[in-house]
Amino acid sequence: MKEFHSDISGFYKLSMEERQKLISSLVNLNQDEIKILKELGYFTPTQIDTLIENVVGSYQLPLGLALNFKINDKDYILPMVIEEPSVVAAASNAAKMARKHGGFHSDEVKPIMISQIQITQLKDVEASKKSLLENKEKLLKIANEQDPMLNELGGGARDIEIREINTNKGIMIILHLLVNVLDAMGANVVNTMAEAISPYIEEISGGKVYLRIVSNLATHRIAKSRATFDKEMLGGEEVVEGILNAYEFAVADPYRATTHNKGIMNGIVALTLATGNDSRAIEAGCHAYASSSGQYSPLTKFKTDSDGNLVGEIEVPLALGIIGGMTKIHPMARVALKILNLKSASELSQVGAALDLAQNVAALRALASEGIQKGHMALHSRNIAKVAGVPDELLEKVAQEMIKEKKIRVDYAKQILQRLSDSKNL
Ligand code: NAD
Repeated sequence: MKEFHSDISGFYKLSMEERQKLISSLVNLNQDEIKILKELGYFTPTQIDTLIENVVGSYQLPLGLALNFKINDKDYILPMVIEEPSVVAAASNAAKMARKHGGFHSDEVKPIMISQIQITQLKDVEASKKSLLENKEKLLKIANEQDPMLNELGGGARDIEIREINTNKGIMIILHLLVNVLDAMGANVVNTMAEAISPYIEEISGGKVYLRIVSNLATHRIAKSRATFDKEMLGGEEVVEGILNAYEFAVADPYRATTHNKGIMNGIVALTLATGNDSRAIEAGCHAYASSSGQYSPLTKFKTDSDGNLVGEIEVPLALGIIGGMTKIHPMARVALKILNLKSASELSQVGAALDLAQNVAALRALASEGIQKGHMALHSRNIAKVAGVPDELLEKVAQEMIKEKKIRVDYAKQILQRLSDSKNL
């Protein structure tokens, strides 16, 4: 290998092909590895090279479909991009249990985003607040001039909220600009508006503006969904009791609540990626919302109905778009959106909340009954066999034997492989 250094000046100025050549020689990639690097799939070189910086290749993940979803009386097939086995199967399974009782009921989600403007160095906080409120209409007008298209379609800046916060740098006023972003996720839209109104804010508040940026804690864009999951399909009274115990465990213990919510993220991040949305924005918002009581808490709630069925509900901020960002640029995201057959961003958030609830119920059911590893490891057995060096043509055979023997381990896969090659050599 050549002498390795990471300060490669002008890397971004090279063409993608030149970058591929340079990195291949720098880390000594072999012909097979170079071939993988050059495989762009459905992306054209220009498409992929303009998405982010310093691009050298494309990274693929499986796109699976979760079935059985009925949400607000409409049937949906949900595209999910995820590398973890058993997640898609689990969601489909829980959706079937809810389907028996009418499916999921999700509330309308208003696509209102918050843009924050941080006002500092205030001489008279009360006078500044008063002046900002008095000039609300002018602030909204300047904001709305930034996106005439959004206005024409019925969206745009709608209101302001004024907050006062105490910081180590003194009192600050935080102005929230509330914007109806219609079918977009909305970060760029609201950031542009926040920057545009800032000079006028400085003029009327007498303060100095620093940050002007969207908040991912989208508390005006909360998605709520409810469903009843069939007691017998879950595995009976004992399993329902186990789920209620698991839920109370998560309510009382942030260590457990984190993993509880991780299961929920399995659903939403997979749908977010499939539709070309920003998974970091969604995750940051959900975790912050889960902490709003002061203790990190589960995003779902559970109880039973009079027949002993499990009744679940979820409440999460879901700023998902069907326009803007990468949603219309990524070829597979466009296919995923077509599979979803949605009319609005609000509908996508309603679907997302239902998926999250299903995902959570499926994980809790497995934990409260046979344990998560049985289904998980069975699906994971092919990966284990691959890690053990089993060639592709023997993967299924080795995986099946590991499942049968309930020994899904790399050392056991190696033993089976050895046995198979010994018997071949005899
Ligand atoms: P965008 O910048 O592409 O804006 C959407 C545009 O579509 C708007 O200008 C709007 O006028 C137009 N439009 C047309 N028809 C519309 C309709 N029916 N509804 C809504 N808009 C319509 O996209 P965006 O959603 O503003 O920004 C999303 C991107 O911003 C994501 O890629 C995200 O990663 C990125 N981002 C996120 C953050 C953050 O979350 N903190 C910060 C910066 C950027």
